[in-house]
Amino acid sequence: PSTSCDALVIGAGAAGLMCALTAGQRGLRVRVLDHANKVGKKILMSGGGRCNFTNTGTTPANYLSANPHFCKSALARYTPWHFIELVERHGIAYHEKELGQLFCDESSKQIVAMLLAECAAAGVEIRTHCAIERVEHTDAGRFRLHTAQGRFEAPSLVVASGGLSIPSMGASGFGYTLARQFGHAVLPTRAGLVPLTLSGKHAERLHDLAGVALPVEARCNGMAFRSFLLVTHRGISGPAILQISNYWQPGDDLRLDLLPGQDAEALLREWQHARRDAELKTLLAEVLPKRFAQRLCEHWIASKPLRQYTPRELEGIAALLRDWPLVASGTEGYRTAEVTLGGVDTDGLSSSTMMSRHVPGLHFIGEVVDVTGWLGGYNFQWAWASGHAAGHALGG
Ligand code: FAD
Repeated sequence: PSTSCDALVIGAGAAGLMCALTAGQRGLRVRVLDHANKVGKKILMSGGGRCNFTNTGTTPANYLSANPHFCKSALARYTPWHFIELVERHGIAYHEKELGQLFCDESSKQIVAMLLAECAAAGVEIRTHCAIERVEHTDAGRFRLHTAQGRFEAPSLVVASGGLSIPSMGASGFGYTLARQFGHAVLPTRAGLVPLTLSGKHAERLHDLAGVALPVEARCNGMAFRSFLLVTHRGISGPAILQISNYWQPGDDLRLDLLPGQDAEALLREWQHARRDAELKTLLAEVLPKRFAQRLCEHWIASKPLRQYTPRELEGIAALLRDWPLVASGTEGYRTAEVTLGGVDTDGLSSSTMMSRHVPGLHFIGEVVDVTGWLGGYNFQWAWASGHAAGHALGG
C-alpha cells in the first residue's frame, strides 16, 4: 500500500523546503523526501558557514539561462524582501557584506532551522535517508514513488534535487534522469562558479604563488567582473574568477585587467616623468602584490629603469596590464563548483508555476532547472523564488 498525500517533494534543500512550507501553509498535505542523512546540507556549507541567503540587488540580468526571460515571473513575485521579512520574523541577525550580499551574523544553521520551523508549523513531513528507487506515473495521473521507506503517492510531484556540484554532499543527476523519463529536454550541464585550472607555461609560472590575491577585472565573452583573484596550486580562483567561470568555456579568450579602475598608461607615463631611475618591477610592486609583480617581470614584461622605455614600449606594457591574457585549461569541475549550469530546459516549464507543460502535476524548481545565478546570494534567491512559485501553484 502507498502512503498518500497532496504533494511529494524530492529534495530537502533550499528550493524543496521553500516549496513545501508554502504549499503546507495553503493547507496541502506535503511530504519531502531526501536521500541524504540530513536536510539542507548546501545551505549549511554556504557562504563559509554564514549563508549568503539573498542579494538585495537581484534582477533577471544576474542569471544565465537559455531563456533569459524565464526567471522573471518567479523573481518578481518572491523578491529578496520577502525572504528578508521571513528572516527578520525569526529574529535572525544578518548583515550586508558588499554589493547587496546578505549573510547571517552567526550561522547558516539558523536558515535551516527557520525553514524547518516553518515546515513544521505548516504540517510538512520530512523524511531523510529516503532514497528514491523509481517514479511511476499511474493511469489515474498520480505519481507513485518507490523508495527505501516504502511507497508514496500524490497527484503532484516537485523535483527539487539540485545540481551536480559537490557530489560528496549528496548531489546526483537524479533530477535530470527523471526529467528525461517524463519527456523533458535537459540542456548540457557543466560546472559553474568554479576555480579555473592552468596548464603548461602559465601553470609553471604561477603555481608557487598560491595564496597571492589581488583585485582584477576578469573579462570573457562580453562579461566583466571586478573583484579579487586568488592564485591556487592548480590555477586561479577568487570571486572574480568564480563569476567569470560561468561565462567561460575551454578555448575562450580570458583577459584580466590587473589595475582595475586605474589608467595604466597614465600611471606609467607619470612614473617615467617623476621616477625616471626606478626599475619597473620596483614600481609595479607598489601597486601589485610584490611577488606577483616580480613574476610578471620575469616572464611577461622586461623590467628596466623607467627612463629607458620608448613611448611604444610603455603603451605595450599598459596594454598587457589592462588586458593580461591568461590561458585557462579547464575548471576544477563539480568537486568544487558552487553550482551547475544548464539542466532541465525551461521551454518545457511554465514560468509562473514551474509546472511541466506536458505532464500535469509535475514541477521542477531550484538548481535542477536551467537557471543559474551569479555568485553573491542569487542562487538561493532563485531557489526561494522558484520554490515559492511552485508551492503557491501546487494542487491548483
Ligand atoms: P540543493 O540545496 O542542492 O538541494 C537538493 C537536495 O536534493 C539535497 O538535499 C539532496 O540531498 C537532495 N537529493 C539529490 N538527489 C536526490 C535523490 N536522488 N533522492 C532524494 N534526494 C536527493 N548560493 C547562494 O545563493 N549563496 C551562497 O552563499 C552559496 N554558497 C554555496 C557554497 C557552496 C560550497 C556550494 C556548493 C553552493 C553554494 N551556493 C550558494 C549555491 C546554492 O547552495 C545552490 O544554488 C542551492 O542550494 C540550490 O538549491 P536546491 O534546493 O535547488 O538544491
